[in-house]
Amino acid sequence: MNNGRCIVCQRDAYISGWYKVKDKVWREAGLKPDQLCHCICLAYLLGRRLNREDFTNSEVNDIVFAILDKGRIRPLNEMFDDKGRKIEAER
Ligand SMILES: [Zn+2]
Repeated sequence: MNNGRCIVCQRDAYISGWYKVKDKVWREAGLKPDQLCHCICLAYLLGRRLNREDFTNSEVNDIVFAILDKGRIRPLNEMFDDKGRKIEAER
């Protein structure tokens, strides 16, 4: 169980917002599914910076899309439908 705190720095893990990385990245860092970890503390555990491919296509990752995605910029409602499914960009 987590206590709402980051497993690395022990500070409140809810203040820095939500993100989702792929399961294999979480495992690579040696984290368990129910643990919490800030993005930067995850990078610390991994010993490297995170990149676009580390993150899932979940709408909670919108800051990642804003900074790292390539191609045409779309607002969130054009990237994900009402059920949170990714909408492929038309070519
Ligand atoms: Zn932390």
